[in-house]
This record gives sequence, structure tokens and C-alpha cells, in this order.
Amino acid sequence: MNGTGTLYTVSAPSGAGKTSLVNALIERDQGLRVSVSHTTRPQRPGERDGVDYHFVDEAVFTTMLAEAAFLEHARVFGNLYGTSQAWVEQQLAQGTDVVLEIDWQGAEQVKRQLPATRSIFILPPSRQTLEQRLTGRGQDGPEVIAARMAQAVEEISHFVQSDFLVVNNDFEQALAELQTIVACHRLQTSRQQQLLSDLLQNLLA
Ligand code: GDP
Ligand code: ADP
Ligand code: 5GP
Repeated sequence: MNGTGTLYTVSAPSGAGKTSLVNALIERDQGLRVSVSHTTRPQRPGERDGVDYHFVDEAVFTTMLAEAAFLEHARVFGNLYGTSQAWVEQQLAQGTDVVLEIDWQGAEQVKRQLPATRSIFILPPSRQTLEQRLTGRGQDGPEVIAARMAQAVEEISHFVQSDFLVVNNDFEQALAELQTIVACHRLQTSRQQQLLSDLLQNLLA
């Protein structure tokens, strides 16, 4: 993968707000796309197949895995999740920045394969707020919420491996911080040199 786009991973404990933040981020930025993961998790009410996830059964997932279709994959809360290698490759090659909303295990796998990946970790402002958000989302039962709260500490303990740490207390502020991270990477000389080749050629003539 020698594309010009930047690959970002966004990780957080379930309920911290990563999906809401990433959706808001890509809505405001034409040069950024989010990868639609494959998952064996049951579809939640309101989720659309192919938009929120590609919902597949374990047999399909296992076949895709054998065909090396995934850039990374992991089992999270008992379900399998994976990122399409071909799609990510294609987007980066055409200069589009790509966001992967994946758990820490996946973020580590991606970073090992593509060290230029920038990893972002989202923290909730408190444990209590995390639980309130999981409950308020109204999509998981008490048992699932309890399991996700129990898993939150394990997920958060991996924050130190990420490049950026953002607290999602005030939504607009957290969103602005994510936009800053993306803008900062686009302004790097290596990237600008490609985008501004005509200007540079002209100025240096
Ligand atoms: P398009 O440029 O309007 O086709 O839209 P996109 O750039 O979003 O998608 C490019 C292609 O990749 C389309 O065929 C999508 O259906 C496909 N695609 C999007 N997400 C995924 C994914 O996670 N896995 C796979 N296998 N294909 C995907
Ligand atoms: P995740 O993708 O990390 O599991 P979601 O994006 O689904 O989290 O957010 C969980 C819930 O918290 C949603 O109902 C969302 O609307 C809400 N939420 C997200 N960010 C904030 C925020 N800054 N303040 C209040 N509520 C938030
Ligand atoms: P949810 O089922 O709430 O959408 O996601 C549960 C967990 O799975 C979250 O921690 C999320 O980051 C993770 N996840 C979602 N998609 C992927 C993926 O493609 N790969 C990996 N490794 N984790 C994923």
C-alpha cells in the first residue's frame, strides 16, 4: 500500500461516542471516508446492512478470512469484526483519507502492517457517563451493557499505544479536536508536496 491517503484508527470503549464522532467528522469532510466493517454481530434495530456494517454469518467470515480479505480482524464481545483490505487499499491509493473504527486489537494489527497509521483513542469523561451513554443509546439490554462496562477498563488500558488521546465530554470540542488531527496531517510537507506540485514547480521555476 503506497497510497497518498492517511489511515486513521479510532478506538474507544463501547459507548464513548466514537461512531457519533466519526460520522460527524466524515459528514464535514469530503476527503475522509469510514470503512464499513464486516461483522457476525446481530444487526441492531435501525442499522443498515452495507452502511453501518456488512452483516455476515461465521461461515462467510471464516471464508473471507481464509481468502485473506481482511486487513485486520478481531473477536470483540464474542463477535467477529474485520476490515476489508481491498477497500482500504483502493481508497488510500486514490488519495482519500480513511478512518477505521476498530478495537485496540485491530488497531495494533493495522499499525504493525502499516506503521504510518495514526491511532486515535477516545475517552469518556467518566465511568458514570459511559454507562449513561450506553443506556441512553437504547440499543443494548442490561446484560450486554454490563458486559461492555466490564470490558471498558481492558479497552481503556490500551490508550497508551495510541498517538492521540481525545476526551469526548463536549461533543463539538471533541469533534474539533479530531478535525485538527486530520488537518495537521494534511499539512505535512510530504503530503503538501504532492498536492501543491504545480504551485511549487511554478514558484521554483
Ligand atoms: P463509490 O465510490 O460510490 O462506489 O463508493 P465507495 O468509495 O464508498 O465504495 C467503493 C466500493 O467499495 C463500493 O463497491 C462499496 O460497496 C465497497 N465497499 C465499501 N465498504 C466496504 C467494505 O468494508 N468491504 C468491502 N468488501 N467493500 C466495501
Ligand atoms: P460508540 O460508537 O463508541 O459505541 P456512540 O457513538 O454510539 O458510541 O455513542 C454512544 C451514545 O452516547 C449515543 O447515544 C450518542 O448519541 C451519545 N453521545 C456521544 N457523544 C456524546 C457527548 N459528547 N455528549 C453526550 N452524549 C454523547
Ligand atoms: P459495536 O458492536 O458496538 O458496533 O462494536 C463493538 C466493538 O467492536 C467496538 O470496540 C468496535 O471498535 C469494534 N469493532 C468494530 N468494527 C471492527 C473491526 O472491523 N475490527 C475490529 N478489530 N474491531 C471492530
